[in-house]
Amino acid sequence: MSADERVVTDKEDTATAGPDVVVVGAGPGGCVLSYLLARSGVETVLLKRHADLDREFRGYFFQPLVLRLFEGMGVLSDVLALDHDEIRRPVVTVFERSYDVIDLSTLPVSYDYGLLMEQPPLLRLFVDRANEFDDFEFRPATTATDRERDEELELRSRLVVGADGRYSAVRKAAGINPGLFDSDVELLWFKLPADAVGTAAQGRIESEGILLYFGLGAEDAQAGWFVEKGTYPAIRERGIDALRKRVAAVDSTIARHLRSFDQCSLLRIEPGRSETWTKDGLLLLGDAAHVASPVGGQGNGLAIQDAVVAYSIIVTALEAADDTLPNEQLGRFESQRRPAVEEVLHLQRRGERVLSWYVPHRDSIPAWVGGPLARMLFEVLPKTASFRWTWETFALGPEPIPVDTAAFESPQ
Ligand SMILES: Cc1cc2nc3c(=O)[nH]c(=O)nc-3n(C[C@H](O)[C@H](O)[C@H](O)COP(=O)(O)OP(=O)(O)OC[C@H]3O[C@@H](n4cnc5c(N)ncnc54)[C@H](O)[C@@H]3O)c2cc1C
Repeated sequence: MSADERVVTDKEDTATAGPDVVVVGAGPGGCVLSYLLARSGVETVLLKRHADLDREFRGYFFQPLVLRLFEGMGVLSDVLALDHDEIRRPVVTVFERSYDVIDLSTLPVSYDYGLLMEQPPLLRLFVDRANEFDDFEFRPATTATDRERDEELELRSRLVVGADGRYSAVRKAAGINPGLFDSDVELLWFKLPADAVGTAAQGRIESEGILLYFGLGAEDAQAGWFVEKGTYPAIRERGIDALRKRVAAVDSTIARHLRSFDQCSLLRIEPGRSETWTKDGLLLLGDAAHVASPVGGQGNGLAIQDAVVAYSIIVTALEAADDTLPNEQLGRFESQRRPAVEEVLHLQRRGERVLSWYVPHRDSIPAWVGGPLARMLFEVLPKTASFRWTWETFALGPEPIPVDTAAFESPQ
């Protein structure tokens, strides 16, 4: 199906005309929410812009808190049957010396590791599981828009969930300000063959630049290269050889596999949180409501936690209201989630400030000064209580979130 579709809520005639809930966007937030709603007998339609779940650059790393949530939903063993790596001690190499700055195995939880896994199989699992329930419909190749297009289908529902990512069309259509912060750095993301990355997850800081990389041992690997904001056009103009040379000074294997700008995608680091996440008949979650920076790998976990909290509030609101779900009920989602999200974004901002200073200045710091200073920092920092508290908050979330299973049904 190639039609563009407009999503509307209809306050007068909702009970008979369509599904109870339209979820726009099949990322981690939208897929998990759809599965939970389908599992509870809520008529749900999930819209996805592309024809399949494979197409975009996506985050591979999932914090331990996500494992706990998957366990609560009863899907953990299926998730762990997918290709994945368990990450306990991500290695950071600083001026050629390696440090275990974080040790997830010391966390006081059953699942004391992060999950490194490609998103498409995970998303497919949730869509497949949701499809086991009659009241669920998945509509790929369907774009939600606020404009009239050639082919159009109007979906009427009691609630539209904007889970359509950082450039959310649903948020835009609702006239909600995305509330983005300024940032001085961007990440140039490389898609690479699997053998370009020797270890599962790593960071590398040298005077020539900073690389983050994830290898999955399966089909491909990804690496992120921090650049100053607005410099990507100039990097492209200088050509791939110049970029490769620069990357080679930090990691020659990665550089060898970097052959063209087709492997590159610019990830704008524009963290922020929208001014409001709910209105009558509307709820925004995940990146559509708030965008995390790459510091501490938080975006997936935040979107999945949002989905779990939103699910419970939506099910209660559907029972209480006759037609369009009122903001009075939906607003509980924002009051529960905003403080936790704000806390995570605040912790990330601290890390970003260091990056924002380092990336533009790295060329002017001689290695004989930068090396010892950075090593001293990485030897001392992991031993401080505030650093431990920060990564524990990233790993487990500011507070545990229970999965409400009271309304779960068995598949037909
Ligand atoms: C390169 C990269 C690396 C990252 N690495 C990590 C990481 O390692 N760990 C981590 O936790 N986070 C990471 N993140 C962030 C993480 O991927 C996001 O925070 C997370 O995917 C947000 O989930 P979401 O469900 O809110 O939205 P998204 O995953 O962005 O999903 C939105 C979905 O909506 C669809 N869509 C968009 N517009 C429309 C429309 N108009 N109509 C219909 N569908 C639409 C899109 O096609 C997509 O399927 C990374 C992000 C990027 C870009």
